[in-house]
Amino acid sequence: MTLELDADIKRLSGVGTSGAAYLKKLGITTVGALLYHFPRAYEFRGNVKTVASAEDGETAAFILTVNAPPSYAKSRSGIMIYKLPAGDGTGGCTIVFFNQNYIKTAFRVGASYRFYGKVSRRGKHVELSSPVYEPYSDKLLPLYPVYPATEGYSSVRINKLISSVIDREDTVLPENLPDEVVASERLMSRTEALKTIHHPQSLYAVGEAKRRLAFEELFLFAVNVRSTRKKDDTAPRAVMRGCVCDEFKAALGFEPTGAQKRVMNEIYTDLTANADKPPMRRMVSGDVGSGKTVCAQFGAYVAAKNGYQTAVMVPTEILARQHYEDCSKLFSLLGMSVRLLISDLPQSKKNEVYDSLLSGECDVVIGTHALITDKVSFKNLGLVVCDEQHRFGVNQRETLLKKGDGTHMLVMSATPIPRTLALVLFGDLDVSVIDEMPPGRRAVRTAYRDENSRDKIYSFIRDQVKAGRQAYIVCPGIEETEDDGLIPLEALTSDFSAEKYGKEVNKRKAAVNYAEKLSVDVFPDLKVGYLHGKMKSAEKNAVMGKFERGELDILVSTTVIEVGINVPNASVMLIEDADCFGLSQLHQLRGRVGRGRYASYCILMANDPGQNAEARLKIMESENNGYKIAEFDLKQRGPGDFIRENDEKIRQHGALKLKMAGALDDAALLYRALEWAERYTKEG
Ligand code: ADP
Ligand code: MG
Repeated sequence: MTLELDADIKRLSGVGTSGAAYLKKLGITTVGALLYHFPRAYEFRGNVKTVASAEDGETAAFILTVNAPPSYAKSRSGIMIYKLPAGDGTGGCTIVFFNQNYIKTAFRVGASYRFYGKVSRRGKHVELSSPVYEPYSDKLLPLYPVYPATEGYSSVRINKLISSVIDREDTVLPENLPDEVVASERLMSRTEALKTIHHPQSLYAVGEAKRRLAFEELFLFAVNVRSTRKKDDTAPRAVMRGCVCDEFKAALGFEPTGAQKRVMNEIYTDLTANADKPPMRRMVSGDVGSGKTVCAQFGAYVAAKNGYQTAVMVPTEILARQHYEDCSKLFSLLGMSVRLLISDLPQSKKNEVYDSLLSGECDVVIGTHALITDKVSFKNLGLVVCDEQHRFGVNQRETLLKKGDGTHMLVMSATPIPRTLALVLFGDLDVSVIDEMPPGRRAVRTAYRDENSRDKIYSFIRDQVKAGRQAYIVCPGIEETEDDGLIPLEALTSDFSAEKYGKEVNKRKAAVNYAEKLSVDVFPDLKVGYLHGKMKSAEKNAVMGKFERGELDILVSTTVIEVGINVPNASVMLIEDADCFGLSQLHQLRGRVGRGRYASYCILMANDPGQNAEARLKIMESENNGYKIAEFDLKQRGPGDFIRENDEKIRQHGALKLKMAGALDDAALLYRALEWAERYTKEG
């Protein structure tokens, strides 16, 4: 039976009006959307342990024989507690359930079951508390899917619903990739891949299903992006003529870098192209501090020369004020008028800005979301600039663009992303890359060290603090979460090893304790602040505020330090278990130091990292260029990290979401998906 993927989800039995309402919250309205609701993680029920080897606190599976019917008793607080005695050849285990009356008759004495749950061990006494269980057979699947769910509609319920569709032998989905592509890339069929991703027969099969589904996503995504681009190409543009730009260069006060000159040229060529060309849609990508602003300012200058206005949209009021001050200085030299529009302004000021935009007196307006309200109209809007573009949805951008005719657009992104990958993910934009820093910026000296150097490192940090500097210590720690014991989808790579993965998780958990102890044991004489994932944002802000004001010497953080933090006085960063981080993450982290006039250092601690991790750390020692680092990362670990980190940006493409591509660890596959898409858009 071939499934109709467009069929309304209500057509499935068991989905009533209220069920459909819950599913809608998860973005599921059709049968197809249900099947493309992928597990976010799996319970590894195939990871069977023996009772003797069970460790306190771990989540694992056990195959146990029930020795006797459950005993039960009411606790003082009125809870019924059921205790089921069971065991394997290596030891006995008590299985505890609460308030579940059916437990009395749920088990057959002498029969074996697979239990999966959290272990507690006190000496020889081992307990499993409220585990899930299934009668044992050799057909039990090793991985049990865990879905993104919502209150009122659990993961288990979603699993049941999906099972009702795919577990039928005769269910077939229409293939949506060309046969030729499936064959030459040796991909699973669509039917097999979807059946597998929900109910995998093995770890290996998940890898294959991921490969197929990620390929499918990227292929369709690229085809879609290319055809949208074509559609847009028919809009008439705001026409601008060439102009003499010496005056702009003179006003700058510094010589633009080669990369900036190249990008300014690209913008100039776009803006002054023939009237029959579509409006500019360009992304300028460059590391923090690479000097993107100048390029945008140059665009605004060319627009103003042609009698057009420019709107610059930034995500926060602080950024808006900073840009406003920057631009005011430069543009006043060029006889251009600049205004600031943020919701914080008194109404009378706002009205002044509205008037100046409508009359055309204002050349450049810099603002936040306040720019897209109905009150804002322009005399002649010619250029829209979005800074930190990922913070804006495509609709917000569109709304602003529509305030002019054939408006050009420039978006700025501070995530170094390999050019090739940017071309795929932002296929509807032209991409300019600023891969060079302005002169005079000092590279952060980076060193990879192991445990033997710990004392030296501590005293180095101490010396820096004595000299008046501040330090960051970052640990890849994770707090205990509801995901404990689960394997996330993206961790299931072709070379997945449960043992290795378990070790890494334990290492991360240990980091939490380490962070807490630092202040007490290692630096009791210094002022140490501590940031961790469980803090409320007000608490976090308070700690960060103290660090920013210099009231703390050291900031220990178990989670990634907020990107917005800017402390020029911080000169050293120690990253613990640096092998747990991806390269791009390490580069982002390291960018927190070296912002002031002090020589700055980054120490990457790793003990016994694998070969790949060691190669990553060595690259960090020798390379400061974010693009070179990103290229290396892409080759080594595939595009998954980039896609996940740029999720918001990519979503702008509307209907298509990349859900699986973020779990892809194969860069070559990404390129081939793109090449195929290229061929099929040309032919189609
Ligand atoms: P970002 O790319 O992060 O937006 P900015 O445009 O804010 O970077 O530039 C960072 C700083 O570098 C600013 O103070 C800017 O004036 C300065 N700058 C930019 N380009 C150059 C250059 N070519 N030479 C010297 N300083 C520059
Ligand atoms: Mg900037």
